[in-house]
Amino acid sequence: MKITVESSLAGCTCLITGGAGFIGSHLADALLGRGHRVVVIDNLSTGRLENIAHLRAHPLFQFVHASIEDEAVLNNLAAQAKVIFHLAAAVGVKLIVEKPVETIETNVLGTELVLRTAARHGCRVLIASSSEVYGKGCKVPFSEEDDVVLGATSRARWAYAASKMVDEFLGLAYHAEFGLPVVCARIFNTIGPRQTGRYGMVVPRFIRQALCGEPLTVYADGSQTRCFCDVRDVVEALIGLAMHPAAAGRVFNVGSTEEISILDLARKIVELTETFSPIEFVPFDRAYAPGFEDMQRRVPDITRIRELLGWEPKRSLEESLRTIIARARADLQTL
Ligand code: UDP
Repeated sequence: MKITVESSLAGCTCLITGGAGFIGSHLADALLGRGHRVVVIDNLSTGRLENIAHLRAHPLFQFVHASIEDEAVLNNLAAQAKVIFHLAAAVGVKLIVEKPVETIETNVLGTELVLRTAARHGCRVLIASSSEVYGKGCKVPFSEEDDVVLGATSRARWAYAASKMVDEFLGLAYHAEFGLPVVCARIFNTIGPRQTGRYGMVVPRFIRQALCGEPLTVYADGSQTRCFCDVRDVVEALIGLAMHPAAAGRVFNVGSTEEISILDLARKIVELTETFSPIEFVPFDRAYAPGFEDMQRRVPDITRIRELLGWEPKRSLEESLRTIIARARADLQTL
């Protein structure tokens, strides 16, 4: 992929909200690698200092421990930035089911503040949205202009999707009404080193379970499928979208199209870790909460981003898993 950068953005200062998180920290690595100055704001609710520890001494890196809801701090940082990557959000299905108020408030109020502040300073904004927005739709693959079907409001999971939809609507509205350059990236399942299984994400959970000799907890019968994209590919897409002059005012899927069932994923991880962990099937009601709804398949149509940026994932699932397993092994040894 060749990144087309508006000339005024070459080497500019980028603000990453949620930059101590899994994707945000990899984004910081990639932006610094391209010569940008990077400022991270994170309240460390789910982000971790270890994720950015290796950047602390970098001359172009700055970390601010604050919430994006602290308007004065956000305003001050936005005044120095040309581009804002808005990644601060409540993450993971587990957290969403357990802390619904925090999820909705963080996602909606946070984005509102970021957009209002960006408009004041004329910053370009990339909003990290989610494939959750596609809700319980059954179409394969999902395209950006598809209708969206969410579950009932009594099911907490859909609050996350709805909050991300509001974020997208608001971002697109700022673009339509005020001409603010806002682009929305609907990020599908993403994997890589530094991702934690604490909030329910399946790949780090299975790898930890395998390396610790515990059973791999496959929910339901494991026939549900996902497409897992390497975080290094995802951050390339995010940078490309944020910097491209024609991306503003649009929504783009970002993800892999290599589909695998969760049961096959568990088997693959057992094989690649060369462990003998058994597979344990756990009903959804026990894994999450009674009445939990999962989606059976989730595959992105990436035509739109491919046409604009020439982007597509470079790493296969197996290559990504090998990288994560090697890193997880090293981490276990240093514990
Ligand atoms: N999953 C699983 N075992 C786990 C964690 C997750 O079988 O220990 C399943 C989960 O039900 C879903 C898939 O793996 O079908 C991906 O889950 P994740 O939370 O990583 O992402 P999302 O549900 O947002 O796609």
